[in-house]
Amino acid sequence: MAKHEFKAESQKLLDMVIHSIYSQREIFLRELISNASDAIDKIYYKALTDDALTFDQSNYYIKLIPNKEKRTLTVVDTGIGMTKEELEDNLGVIAKSGSHTFKSENEIKDGHDIIGQFGVGFYAAFMVADKVTVLTKSIDSEEGYQWVSQGSDGYTITPIDREEVGTEIILEIKENEEEDNYDTFLEEATLKQIVKKYSDFIRYPIKMDVTES
Ligand code: ADP
Ligand code: MG
Repeated sequence: MAKHEFKAESQKLLDMVIHSIYSQREIFLRELISNASDAIDKIYYKALTDDALTFDQSNYYIKLIPNKEKRTLTVVDTGIGMTKEELEDNLGVIAKSGSHTFKSENEIKDGHDIIGQFGVGFYAAFMVADKVTVLTKSIDSEEGYQWVSQGSDGYTITPIDREEVGTEIILEIKENEEEDNYDTFLEEATLKQIVKKYSDFIRYPIKMDVTES
């Protein structure tokens, strides 16, 4: 299977993100929830102009699924999903992404600075995960796709069977290191705290589904 490399800017940001200071790492969840919420907004706006689509508020939500046994944290959304092209365009190049205009290298003092000032977006997932898998199906596509990356060595995209429109992001949470407790991101209580701290304003329900195995 062909492995695609990240663009140079992405590579640099990815390195900063991965080596960012510990206390900042929790913002990965804010980034993923904000993307999930944006994706639901998109399906909502589409429904406004597309008579074939109705937006039933109760079908739209974000769900967090921590699984200690598997060491995974999954973020599910019932948003608009991504086509293969969108996966390539949106997750392959960080600096392209709309809301971050990039500063020149000298202006960026360290990872802390940039993470504090901008959202780092989707790549923040690599602050807590060794491997990230995205399962998605766009409302505009017959086929679903899987995007997998272990960070700096690029990513792969393969077709998958998937019925439902929306996106599922599976984070394989890092093992604890001496001073770094990643286990905490598998705890329901921690996740609730982070959600309350950064995502309180999100307009869609954020559910939690705790699986033990
Ligand atoms: P930003 O949100 O600032 O555009 P991100 O790095 O957070 O940057 O996300 C990049 C892009 O990837 C988004 O703009 C969106 O097009 C796509 N994306 C990320 N997560 C999702 C998701 N859960 N559903 C649909 N599209 C997504
Ligand atoms: Mg974002």
